[in-house]
Parts: sequence; structure tokens; C-alpha cells
Amino acid sequence: ITEPIASPKRTIEIIKKYDFAFQKKFGQNFLIDHHVLNKIVTSSEISKDDVVVEIGPGIGSLTQQLAENAKHVIAVEIDKKLIPILEDTLSDYSNITIINEDILKVDLGKLVEEKNNNKPIKVVANLPYYITTPIIMGLFEKNIPITSITVMVQKEVADRMRAEPSTKDYGALTLAIKYYCDPYIVANVPPNCFIPRPKIGSAVIKLTKHTSPPVKVDNEKLLFRIIRASFNQRRKTLINGLSNNLQEMFEKSDIRQAMDNIGLQSNIRGEALNLEEFSNLTNELNKFIK
Ligand code: SAM
Repeated sequence: ITEPIASPKRTIEIIKKYDFAFQKKFGQNFLIDHHVLNKIVTSSEISKDDVVVEIGPGIGSLTQQLAENAKHVIAVEIDKKLIPILEDTLSDYSNITIINEDILKVDLGKLVEEKNNNKPIKVVANLPYYITTPIIMGLFEKNIPITSITVMVQKEVADRMRAEPSTKDYGALTLAIKYYCDPYIVANVPPNCFIPRPKIGSAVIKLTKHTSPPVKVDNEKLLFRIIRASFNQRRKTLINGLSNNLQEMFEKSDIRQAMDNIGLQSNIRGEALNLEEFSNLTNELNKFIK
């Protein structure tokens, strides 16, 4: 292995050499702790058979470790100032493709087809925190073939991903995670593992995709519309949340009927329902769509 990028000394050298200015708007906090990097790579269980997608390579510290272990790494970085730096820091590796684009605009499905014949890839990243949820939801909803997603996120986001019903952290993200995958906290990571230091703690979470969802829903799109509508106004009852937010789809009386059919009390709040109850409600309401 060539000298690791992820040391405070090497990172500062690179930043100075290129006169790189951190961009807050891109959520740039570079990892400088080799132990944490190792934990990410080990827990992602990458082998020389794997094609890995990395979101936001920064100056390449994680990319380098991924390239050592994977068959191929596709790294998508939005900041064009980082591209010449990456070409330099990763010049020893021939198994890395760097793409200068916004991950939310990249056609990942097409990339997986081109680079891995549509076989499942692994996603590994120290995510830009301002778009954690859209990135993860996008990976799930676009049905990209993925085995697992191992990512650094804000500690509070990791908590939301694993929350229990009727707690403040429980919400649409929790239910999406439950529906699509099995979450496991790999490590808690303090601010001093990054340059610059974020204000809050972080966590590495591994999301292993289910081969099939744990509940059977006839209309997946409707499930997530119902979940979002239920948490849109948290303090409202489920029936009011649904009738206010999905007026164009359901009559209030039909919502009451559907709830009754599956044994939900009329004054229950959305935050009290587990995934199974949401999917039962979806299957009932699916019959009542206007
Ligand atoms: N992987 C590096 C590391 O661990 O040191 C950098 C991680 S830093 C938290 C997040 C990275 O994502 C930055 O390099 C940032 O420029 C990049 N980024 C931010 N928004 C992005 C987007 N929409 N698409 C692709 N990359 C993005």
C-alpha cells in the first residue's frame, strides 16, 4: 500500500499543496482517522469481486482503501476543485473511476449496468450530511441493485434509522429503512476524527438490503405516501393527517373504515404504528382510492 491519505499530516499537506478551501455547502469534513477508515472498509466486507460506489471521495482517503480491497471503485464527487487533487492522490490505482457530478443527478442504474453487468454493487461513503436522507432514499426507491450501504452519517440520523414507534426519532426514514434493509451500527465516531471538525457526533451504519421486504404490500408507492402523510403533522391523529394530506385520494369516512377493518383506534397517532400496521393500512386503503 502507498502511504495512506487519511492521516492528519498527509491531509494537511495535500490541502496546503493545492490551496484547497473547504466548502461548507458541500458538507466537507474529511476523515483523518485510520482506525475509523479500517472499520468502514472491514464492515463493508468488500472483496476483489466487488464493484463499489463511493459518494463524495473528497481528497481520496476512503477511496484509496476501497481500491485496495475492491475490484473497481466508482467515486462520484460534486466539487470540481477536488478532481485534479484526486487524480494526483490516487494516481497509483488503475481500478478507480472518478466522476465529477452531483450524486442526486447521476444515473446510477446505468452505471451499474455498464460497470457491473447489473450485478449488485456495494455503496460505501462518508456522506455529505446535508443530503443524507435523499441519497439513501434515492438508492432504495430507484431500485439500484445493491447488496449493502455502509455509510458515515450524523449520530442523530443513525438514531432515527433505528428508532422505535412513539419515540421522537421515529419517522418516515425509520420505516423506509425497516422496509428495505437491516441496519447495524458499526461505530460511533467523535468530531476529532475529521478536518474540519463537525459540531456533532457521527456514526458508521451498515444497511444490508433485504432480499425481499419483511411485509407484503400491494402498492409500494402508496405505502410511502401514507407514511409521509402520517408524519407530516406529527401531533395530529392518523386520521386527520391522512385526510388532510391525501384529500385527493381518500374520503375521511373511507380512512375511518380502513382503520377499523384492521383494528386501529380512531384517535391513534401515526407515530404509534409499526411497519406491519402501515402495510396493513396501505392494503386496506388501496381498495378505496378515488
Ligand atoms: N470521503 C471523504 C472523506 O471521508 O474524507 C470526504 C467526505 S465529506 C463528508 C463529503 C464529500 O461529498 C465531499 O467531498 C463533498 O464535496 C462531496 N459531496 C457533497 N455533495 C455532493 C453531491 N451532491 N454529490 C457528490 N458528492 C458530493
